[in-house]
Amino acid sequence: MSKHTHAFQAEVAQLLHLVTHSLYSNQEIFLRELISNASDACDKLRFEALDDATLYEDAPNLEVRVSFDQEAKTLTISDNGIGMSESEAIAHLGTIAKSGTKDFMSRLSGDQKKDAQLIGQFGVGFYSGFIVADKITVESRRAGLKAEEGVRWISGGTGDFETETITRAQRGTSVILHLRDDATEYLNRWKLKTIISKYSDHISLPILMRKEEWDAEKGESVLQDEWEAVNSASALWTRSKKDISDEQYAEFYKNISYDSEAPLTWSHNRVEGSTEYTQLLYVPAKAPMDLWNRDKKAGVKLYVKRVFIMDEAEALMPTYLRWVKGVIDSADLPLNVSRELLQESRDVKAIREGNTRRVLAMLEDLARKDVLPTGEEWDKLSDEDKAEAEKNAGKFSKFYAEFGAVLKEGLGEDFANQDKLAKLLRFASTQSDAVAVSLADYKARMKEGQEAIYYITADTLAAAKNSPQLELFKKKGIEVLLMSDRVDEWALSFLHQFDGTPLQSVAKGGVDLGKLQDEEEKKAAEQAAETFKPVLEKLKEALKDKAQDVRVTTRLVDSPACLVADDHGMSTQLARMLKQAGQ
Ligand code: ADP
Ligand code: MG
Repeated sequence: MSKHTHAFQAEVAQLLHLVTHSLYSNQEIFLRELISNASDACDKLRFEALDDATLYEDAPNLEVRVSFDQEAKTLTISDNGIGMSESEAIAHLGTIAKSGTKDFMSRLSGDQKKDAQLIGQFGVGFYSGFIVADKITVESRRAGLKAEEGVRWISGGTGDFETETITRAQRGTSVILHLRDDATEYLNRWKLKTIISKYSDHISLPILMRKEEWDAEKGESVLQDEWEAVNSASALWTRSKKDISDEQYAEFYKNISYDSEAPLTWSHNRVEGSTEYTQLLYVPAKAPMDLWNRDKKAGVKLYVKRVFIMDEAEALMPTYLRWVKGVIDSADLPLNVSRELLQESRDVKAIREGNTRRVLAMLEDLARKDVLPTGEEWDKLSDEDKAEAEKNAGKFSKFYAEFGAVLKEGLGEDFANQDKLAKLLRFASTQSDAVAVSLADYKARMKEGQEAIYYITADTLAAAKNSPQLELFKKKGIEVLLMSDRVDEWALSFLHQFDGTPLQSVAKGGVDLGKLQDEEEKKAAEQAAETFKPVLEKLKEALKDKAQDVRVTTRLVDSPACLVADDHGMSTQLARMLKQAGQ
């Protein structure tokens, strides 16, 4: 049988170099990656077998086996999942197909320390085996192919790999790691078991290892022929809340998100009613690098009755909540549901609405607990409640700094939840440098007779703060919200009122201060308009292609003139933004 040598795709060679050189401090993740591939392969078999049950051959119980050979210094991860044909092995283990990884590669700086941090946020997948192995042999046969159509794939993790056709009775894949001399610590049952429970406990198939028993004659533990499961093998979300520790929730989050930071909060529920499903949703602590890519798919995985259906099920979350991670397991959807079908399903609509409500409720809860109670209120708390309050304090501020801007997209996207979203918004203001003023705080501080919530948008906070348009407001001590996120102008154009009070941009038209305007000021302005009429006429004539109108105003205190937008027109910031976007 002939062997063939293939070159790795250039990016793979680059990734391999990086993996072996910069992931040393976090070696053990290789096992998580290989077990997760084995589990994916079993998911895929289960999925394909929905249409063709013969794929199970004579081994319907899907499982992963982890074994090692001290003498040969090999560690083997085997599964009886879908397996690979020779051409699949060449394609999947020689190139990077995943867009996420390519994206990741393009961000590498060449600075090893930084890159190592980055790499932890992504799944590096199969190639992470080379962190501990100087050679990897993969033997596989695809379900449904003949025993003679197996494949052996071998590589030393440098420029190329070899493949040959083999005979393999058993369906599925064995990944055999030939461990480096400095990685032989993994030839140890206890060590492996510890890593498996840390990273892979939630995997819904049994992960089997040989039993070990004490041999009194030999005076040591000896591996037995019998295998036993070393994980709890029940999908985490199917267990009851009270049986799951915070650490287990956090570890599961890391598994599905590749985020190295723990989540800020999560919510796990069985939703009953006309559409039944299990929902486990996480609020991350850190925004992903591609947060602003609105085409980025949602972070929610879809299962149907514990069978994995798809990653990134965008239909299950509105776009402005695309950063939420989690799992939805539905009992009502058909197993062969496609992305297209999902878009149209009534059940999916109900799930999306339920998810949105849940996420907003989590955020409301964080917002409520953001600031520690003080004085008497604090003293009343039990020690336990105090500890709990301290744990939650500051989380919402942290969340808002990362995700606040993307949340604002919801104002234009999700009218049904606009009120709830508006309550979550925080801004800087002429009275607060911190982005911490809620619309409710603002309302509570409004001057007597003030009829609107005033805000200004600009490119930067400093520009907003120093805008001449604020002069009169400052003089009268009226608070103005300062906005400098790119989405503010667009988003705020959808929010016309908060709790019955209209929102008004101070950069638009003749700001009407209503009852706050002194009669004298008004008269003075009218008089000035009369006196300066000839000047105004000249200015209008001179600026006729550039300005729609020239007016005398009472809004300025120190500056001689300022630009404002028409009441119904685009403000200057939005106009600039559209121009930048080439419109
Ligand atoms: P990912 O799992 O994110 O796709 P990996 O680098 O981990 O990326 O794996 C690359 C591909 O190799 C997988 O998508 C799959 O097609 C194939 N593969 C890896 N391990 C197995 C396995 N145990 N069984 C079948 N296919 C596998
Ligand atoms: Mg993988």
